[in-house]
Amino acid sequence: MSASNSLARKAAAGTPDQTASGKAAAKPKKAASTAQSKLAKLGLRTDMDLVLHLPMRYEDETQVVPIRDAGFMAGAPSQVEGVVTECDVQYRPRRQLVVTIADDSGSLVLRFLNFYGSQLKQLAEGTRIRARGEVRHGFFGIEMVHPTYKPVEEGAPLPSSLTPVYPAGEGLSQAFLRKAIANAMTRVDWRDTLPATLRDSLQLQAFDASVRLLHNPPPDVDEHALMERTHPAWTRMKFDELLAQQLSLKRAQEARRSKGAAALPVVGELSTSFLAALPFQLTPAQQRVLEEIRGDLRQSFPMQRLLQGDVGSGKTVVAALAAAQAIDSGYQAALMAPTEILAEQHFRKIATWMEPLGVRVAWLTGSLRKKEKTEAQADITSGEARLVIGTHALIQEGVEFERLGLVIVDEQHRFGVGQRLALRNKGQEGNAVPHQLMMSATPIPRTLAMTYYADLEVSVIDELPPGRTPIVTRVIDQNRRDEVIARVHAAALEGRQVYWVCPLIEESEALQLQTATDTHLALSAALPDLKVGLVHGRMKPAEKQMVMDAFIRGDTHVLVATTVIEVGVDVPNASLMVIEHAERFGLSQLHQLRGRVGRGSAASVCLLLYQSPLGPVAKQRLMTMRETTDGFEIARRDLDIRGPGEFLGARQSGEAMLRFADLQTDQWLVDSAREVAQALLRTDPATVDAHLARWLGGREEFLKV
Ligand code: ADP
Ligand code: MG
Repeated sequence: MSASNSLARKAAAGTPDQTASGKAAAKPKKAASTAQSKLAKLGLRTDMDLVLHLPMRYEDETQVVPIRDAGFMAGAPSQVEGVVTECDVQYRPRRQLVVTIADDSGSLVLRFLNFYGSQLKQLAEGTRIRARGEVRHGFFGIEMVHPTYKPVEEGAPLPSSLTPVYPAGEGLSQAFLRKAIANAMTRVDWRDTLPATLRDSLQLQAFDASVRLLHNPPPDVDEHALMERTHPAWTRMKFDELLAQQLSLKRAQEARRSKGAAALPVVGELSTSFLAALPFQLTPAQQRVLEEIRGDLRQSFPMQRLLQGDVGSGKTVVAALAAAQAIDSGYQAALMAPTEILAEQHFRKIATWMEPLGVRVAWLTGSLRKKEKTEAQADITSGEARLVIGTHALIQEGVEFERLGLVIVDEQHRFGVGQRLALRNKGQEGNAVPHQLMMSATPIPRTLAMTYYADLEVSVIDELPPGRTPIVTRVIDQNRRDEVIARVHAAALEGRQVYWVCPLIEESEALQLQTATDTHLALSAALPDLKVGLVHGRMKPAEKQMVMDAFIRGDTHVLVATTVIEVGVDVPNASLMVIEHAERFGLSQLHQLRGRVGRGSAASVCLLLYQSPLGPVAKQRLMTMRETTDGFEIARRDLDIRGPGEFLGARQSGEAMLRFADLQTDQWLVDSAREVAQALLRTDPATVDAHLARWLGGREEFLKV
C-alpha cells in the first residue's frame, strides 16, 4: 500500500486510526478520489490552492505540563503526557469512552462521547499518550472532554514550533491536510508574482518566505503577531489576496464596459403618468435608488445593479419605474421571478398599474396552456407586449424578444448564474446586451456584497413606506398551542386574517405535505366557525391561485401554508402570523415569512412556536427575531452565526471570498491594493496575469456575470 493511498483513506474515514483496517485497503482508488472530492469541497483543486490553504490558527504543543499543574489551569488548553491506567466504555449517563491517564504528579480522565471501537485498542492500558485539551473539574477529579491525543514513545521529542491548524471539511484530518500541503509545496512554482521593486516600495516580504513561515512557523516567531495575523507574512498574503480581488474586479468592469448596451435615456410619458397614477408617494429612499438606476440606464454600457431592500420596502414599484423608462425609450423589459406565486403577484400589481396606461404586459410561466403560451410568445416577438413578467419560462426556447433593453431579476440569489445569463442573452444584439437590475430582499451587508459580487453596483432602499405598524414578535412554547389557537380565533372575529405556517420538514416533502394537511384538519376542527384554507407546494398552480384569491378577497380567515408563501404574498389585511416549529427555519426565512404581515395599518403580531429543548443556535435565532425586525440587522447577525461561506451559499464560498484580509481592519491594505491594481493594469499586464492565475486560478468567470 502506498503512503498516499493510506493518507487518502485516513482522510476519507476521518478518524486517526483507520490505517490498520484491512478492508479499506481493498479500495484505495475510491478512497483517494473521495479525498480529492473532499479537498475540492474546500476549493482545493490545484497544488497552489493547497499551498495557499493557510492555517486558521496555531496550537502550542511545544510544552507538556505535569497533570497536577494542568488541574490549576482549568479553562485553558494544556498538553499533558501520561500512561493509560484504565480504559472503559461506560453507559451512564450515556455511552462513552472513559480513559484515565497518570504521570508522576497525578491522574486525569479523558472522556469521549463519540468514539470508534478501534480507539479502545489505541488507548489500551499501558499506552503512553500525549493529550491536549481544556481541563475541567469533573465529578471524579480533573478531566478533558474530547481532547486531541496521540500515542507517543517515552521521551519522544516535543515539536519546537507552533502547530498549524487548517480549515478542514468534514472527514479531512489535520494530518492529511498537512501532508497534502507539504507535498504540494515541493511541486509548485514559487516565483514571486510581484516585481522586486514593487515589493520593496511597499515593504512587503517575499511570497515564498511568507508562505513557508505560515505553514511552518520557526521556534522564535513572534507568536502574538502570528496568531493575530499582524505578522509581515500575513500582511503579504492579505495584500496578494486583495490585489487579486481588485484586479479581477477591474477586469470584470472593463469587460462589461467593453460590451455595449442600448442607452435608455427617455423618462417620458409612461414614466410620468405612472408616477402620477400611483396611490402613494415614493419614499426618499425609493427616489434615491430610482435616480441611481435612471443614471445607469442612460449609459451605453450595460447596467449591473443590485437593488437591496427589506421585505416590504417597495422594490417592485422601483423595478416597474425602471421598466417604464425602458419602454419610454422604445425597448421591452422583462421581469423574472423564481416562483410562480411571486411572478403572479408582480404581474397582477404591475399590470394594474401599467395596463390602464396602455402598456401591454405579457404573462409567461410553465403552467400556461399551450395556446396561451403561443399567444404570449407571439406578442413578445412582435413587440406588442412591452413588458414581460414570468418565471424560468422566460428563458426557454421559443421566447424571442423584439427589442429587449432591460432585464429585471427578482430574488436574484435563487437563480443560477447560467439562468441570469440566459435571460440576458435573449437581448443580445451584436456586442450589446440588455441592462440588468437584480433585486434581493435578503440583504447582504454592503462590504460583503462588494467582495462577492465584485462588479456590481449596489442600491439600498433603507426605509419602509410610512404608515406601517411595527410587528410584535413573541416566542412561545409549542405546548401552549391552545392559547395560540384562541388568539387566532379572537383575531379573526375582529376581522383580521391569519397565516399559519407549517413546519419545515427538509428530509421529506411527503411528510411536510402530510403535516400541512393534518394542521389544516386540526385547525378547521378547532375553529368551526372560521374558514380555514390550505396552500402548499404540491398544488396545481390554478388550485393554488384559487386558494390565494379567496384569501386576498378576505373569504378565508386563516390560511394554512407551507413555505410557499415565503416570498411575494401581499395581503395587507393579514396581521397575525403563526410559525410552527420556528426553530427549524433559518433566520432569513423567518424574516421573509414574518414580512407577510405588517403590510397594512393594523398592529401585526408574529408568534414563533418552538419545540423545547432549543439548541443554542436556534435559541440565538429566535432571540434575534424577537429583538429586531430590521432585515439588515438580521442579516448581520445571521452572518455572525453562520459565517460568510454558508451565508452566501455553497457556490460563492471559497471562490472569491477574502480568506485572509478583513475589510474592516485591513482597510489601509485595500486602498494600496486598489492603487497598485490600477498601475499594474496600465503598465504590466504580464504581472496581472501571473497574479490572477496564482490567486484565482481560472475561477474568475463568475465574477463577470
Ligand atoms: P418588496 O420590497 O418586499 O418587494 P413591495 O414592492 O411588494 O415590497 O411593496 C410592499 C407594499 O408596499 C406594496 O403593497 C406596495 O404597493 C407598497 N408600497 C411601495 N412603495 C410605497 C410607498 N412609497 N408608499 C406606500 N406604499 C408603498
Ligand atoms: Mg418583492
